[in-house]
Amino acid sequence: MSDAPAFPVRTAAELDAMREAGRVVARTLQAVRAAAVPGAKLRDLDEIAQTSIREAGALPSFLGYAPSWAPRPFNGVLCLSVNEVVVHGRPTGRRLDDGDLLSIDAGAIFDGWNGDSAITVHVGHQDEADVRLVRATEEALAAGIAAARPGATLPDVARAIDEVARRHGYSHLPDHGGHGIGRSMHEAPFVPNRPLPGAPAVRLEPGSTLAIEPMLLAGGEGYRTARDGWSVVTLDKRRAAHAEHTIAVTEDGPVVLTAP
Ligand code: MG
Ligand code: MG
Repeated sequence: MSDAPAFPVRTAAELDAMREAGRVVARTLQAVRAAAVPGAKLRDLDEIAQTSIREAGALPSFLGYAPSWAPRPFNGVLCLSVNEVVVHGRPTGRRLDDGDLLSIDAGAIFDGWNGDSAITVHVGHQDEADVRLVRATEEALAAGIAAARPGATLPDVARAIDEVARRHGYSHLPDHGGHGIGRSMHEAPFVPNRPLPGAPAVRLEPGSTLAIEPMLLAGGEGYRTARDGWSVVTLDKRRAAHAEHTIAVTEDGPVVLTAP
């Protein structure tokens, strides 16, 4: 446990800066949500996000993102993941259909600090099963945030998220989760969505900043990466939902930095 990667401690001024980045992300998600109607093209939603972020004086953090595992840099401002795509969907020329389930993940850098947040929205007609899945995912996010109190550990957060998922009968991606966030979008430590054997019990302290992001699957946890090298797709083609906030741990408890 002594080897566990601790969270850096942010100052009050740094948290204020991260809240500005978070506001840009929140506004961007609301703009894209409003435009996510049947017939809308994913690439046009991405354009809306690009305008929203740049007009706020921020930079899109996903555009050109090139982690070592990806065969090519990400070519969008948003991750737009439709139906059986869980996360990391790319903005293509695809048009949304009535009844689609769309996860919108946005990241922005303001004054050198990152915000990262995701919502899942119903496009037109709302299928009852999709409504339950999205509600459970939002509930799992809220539970994970509520558990992120000073002195709690990452396994506490994971247990809170996992309890909600299990209670509703949903599964998770086996190896995806949240992350530390600050000057970089993805920082150590990894923030698991379920208890992992041997995972470090990293402690949350006032000034810790992290992205919590449950990804709940209606079916089994099997997945593959699509030929585009990015899109994470369920093997059984069942639908998935994703919800994410960037939060700060404070003396008074968790504070959502990407709240609208
Ligand atoms: Mg995200
Ligand atoms: Mg994230």
